[in-house]
Amino acid sequence: MAEQEFDLIVIGAGPGGYVAAIRAAQLGMKVACVDKRETLGGTCLNVGCIPSKALLHASEKFAAAQSGELAELGVSLGSVKLDLNAMMSKKDNVVSSLTGGIDLLFAKNKVKRLTGFAKITATGEVTLTEGKDKGSYKADNILIATGSEPASLPNIEIDEQKIVSSTGALALPKLPKKLVVIGAGYIGLEMGTVWARLGTEVEVVEYLPRILPGMDSDVASKFKSMLEKQGLSFRLGTAVTGAKTTAKGVSLSVETDGKAETITCDIALVAVGRRPFTDNLGLQELGVELTQRGQIKVDEDFETNIPGLYAIGDVIEGPMLAHKAEEDGVAAVEIMAGMAGHVDYDLVPGIVYTSPEIATLGATEDKLKEQGVAYKKGVFPFLANSRAKATGHTEGFVKILADAQTDKVLGAHIIGHDAGTLIHEVATAMSFGASAEDIARTCHGHPTTNEAVKEAALAVDKQAIHI
Ligand code: FAD
Repeated sequence: MAEQEFDLIVIGAGPGGYVAAIRAAQLGMKVACVDKRETLGGTCLNVGCIPSKALLHASEKFAAAQSGELAELGVSLGSVKLDLNAMMSKKDNVVSSLTGGIDLLFAKNKVKRLTGFAKITATGEVTLTEGKDKGSYKADNILIATGSEPASLPNIEIDEQKIVSSTGALALPKLPKKLVVIGAGYIGLEMGTVWARLGTEVEVVEYLPRILPGMDSDVASKFKSMLEKQGLSFRLGTAVTGAKTTAKGVSLSVETDGKAETITCDIALVAVGRRPFTDNLGLQELGVELTQRGQIKVDEDFETNIPGLYAIGDVIEGPMLAHKAEEDGVAAVEIMAGMAGHVDYDLVPGIVYTSPEIATLGATEDKLKEQGVAYKKGVFPFLANSRAKATGHTEGFVKILADAQTDKVLGAHIIGHDAGTLIHEVATAMSFGASAEDIARTCHGHPTTNEAVKEAALAVDKQAIHI
């Protein structure tokens, strides 16, 4: 096979693309993976999951030191002060060590890395129109994994200085006095809590009458009051109709129940969602079908209407999450290799990495009610869990929903410390079709917060021991 010819070219080296490229190489394909960025890892590693989690962690440590929480444990500190530059450098180091790690994985798996902007110029042909590896490349199959970019609102222009997307909010050079977050989804709330903990006044403006749309409404309303205790304020049911930058900051026009107002702030973070990124990819010329929301349409094998052209991750339908993109990527290349790749979209966990965390899996109670499904519910508060008591993480609860007749677990919703880790116990159980009794009868280590999951499963049949 010639130097510029491959079995598979993957466009995009985010979690969807780079994982697909490695799996395809494991399966014996000659693979190239192209990205326009200088560093691998896509949105997730460069400007998404990883830097946000690094800042969430660092800001939690700062808040713990400052609030007297450590003093209560007998750890006395002198005066606590914020070194924002050091915090940002630590975050940048975490990002570069992980993006560099993917280079090593590509080398180990013999995935050819190409840098440049890719355009699909014909069936089986990718041309890098700019970048260091400019030129034309051929492949039997092409996998589009070009991900997404921040969406905005009409009349609002993101300048990444005063009106920022999540990318700008991850790298503010100084502590804003006031930050307005537009959008109460997980990205807005994660970034809002980072800056609130560091000392910024944070107001969240949301068009809908609730926060975290799509998540369990009990969890969302409990979480809103927790965030209010942490100092965030909310304007729900409020539309942002315009934003302009001023010498001092940003002036936002908002409308609540027909009443117009102006909010001023130093920085406005636009966190109203993300849109699939397919700009200049050559899709129109090839006649690739898109959905109404601009996502690439694929069949159950991840193949577009053009044979040999596949797509995965944020650029197709489904939750815009890194782990979903990874699962898509593995399934797509396994299918190309003649295997039975499959993703169960009912079992993709959704996690908000705030403090406390929120994790959700499967059906919400709202959904079950809407669908008229008869269900049982078990709820267990962390206040009654011994490990949570010992570590002071008593906020929140575990809720497990099970079918009223069969006891099969239909959903789990957790708000509390480390909820994002705890949910995976239920995910594994649900992927084997477990009943609530299966989880309840599994011996859980003591003292662990996982015992709250067991107790919630026991509570489904009113057998919880510690409440
Ligand atoms: P991306 O990661 O977007 O990667 C696409 C890549 O394709 C990019 O590197 C881009 O440069 C490249 N590309 C695009 N077009 C071309 C082209 N024509 N030529 C060459 N290269 C191209 N998800 C989670 O699961 N957990 C989290 O905690 C989480 N936190 C997040 C926090 C923030 C602030 C943000 C913004 C996102 C977060 N996400 C999180 C979402 C997650 O980042 C995305 O779902 C995930 O990155 C999607 O992966 P992907 O491979 O589909 O695309």
